Amino acid sequence: MTNPAPPLVRPEIAALAGYVPGEQPQGGKWIKLNTNENPYAPSPAVARALAATAAGRTLAKYPDPLATVFRMRAAEVLGVDPDWIICGNGSDDLLTIFVRTFVGAGECLRMPYPSYILYRTLAGIQGAVCDEFQYERDWSLGDGFAAPRTSAGADVKLAIIANPNSPSGTLLPHDRIRELAAQLPCPLVVDEAYGDFAAEHCLDLVRENERVIVSRSFSKSYALAGLRFGFAVAQPAVIAELQKVKDSYNCDALSIAAATAAIDDQTWLAENRAKIVATRRRLTDAMRGLGYDAVESQANFVWCTHPTRPHRPVYEALKSQGILIRYMNYAGWGDGLRITVGTDDEIDAFLAVMKTI
Ligand SMILES: *Cc1c(COP(=O)(O)O)cnc(C)c1O
Repeated sequence: MTNPAPPLVRPEIAALAGYVPGEQPQGGKWIKLNTNENPYAPSPAVARALAATAAGRTLAKYPDPLATVFRMRAAEVLGVDPDWIICGNGSDDLLTIFVRTFVGAGECLRMPYPSYILYRTLAGIQGAVCDEFQYERDWSLGDGFAAPRTSAGADVKLAIIANPNSPSGTLLPHDRIRELAAQLPCPLVVDEAYGDFAAEHCLDLVRENERVIVSRSFSKSYALAGLRFGFAVAQPAVIAELQKVKDSYNCDALSIAAATAAIDDQTWLAENRAKIVATRRRLTDAMRGLGYDAVESQANFVWCTHPTRPHRPVYEALKSQGILIRYMNYAGWGDGLRITVGTDDEIDAFLAVMKTI
């Protein structure tokens, strides 16, 4: 029996299951294909920026609260002005800022289902309702997603769509996002944590619609999950409100310097993306060859289900051989295996074990 929560905390927190991240074994020789990290080392410019920042007196002082050097550099790369950008301690930090900014207690956060479960947790912490609207079986999203209220009458104050989505890796087309943004009564966050691996993105929608916010992560496409840095793009009046909610020093000097160096190296990004996309193709085809339905992915992972074979034992058999993938079970939807695109060698090792299961 678990201990009852002490009567000190808010009832919303006591009722919360708490977000459970994927396994992060420390030490040991795992092939990690479970939390969508990039299998390659980041741009060498990152190590140089970190060393230079650590060497002088920079770390003795508080960092720039607005990460101005990063915003200036990112603004050039993205073709927006710096005051359209807010930085976060990972894009999870930005998601927290969005929910705190837009959704009050008893109000509603809408998200598709199945998707990134953290959104639900953030709504729970806020004492808000999370309304999870099911994807169709082909991972398209019906117009009901834009309904202004829940069936119980709560006002929808924020919607978040991971695009590409996790676990499916699928992308709602740019024009579909535009339609949903126009129909929704509230801001729409397009969580593009995997956007750099996809065929299209929604940055231009921010310019035409004040309600669209796009967030990006350095954890996946820039191979910096251990660093913690993300940013969001929105119109300046929206950014100004978000700045009020964030912690004063939410990004430290090392991560600001490293992220600036990383976004400066677009050649590294393009090469890394090409490698991941090629291995993604190979992994998808190989899983189909093994009888799986492997969804065509726009991200750095592939969602696989088997029409007859149970999924959990496959995850366990792989784990016993030192290979971690993600087993996901979504109530009311079904379960499956989410496999991160590793290096070619890692995917070969994974496929070799798969063939013996
Ligand atoms: C990984 C992930 C994030 C979090 O990224 P961080 O920058 O590491 O906080 C956000 N959204 C989705 C959909 C993700 O998969």
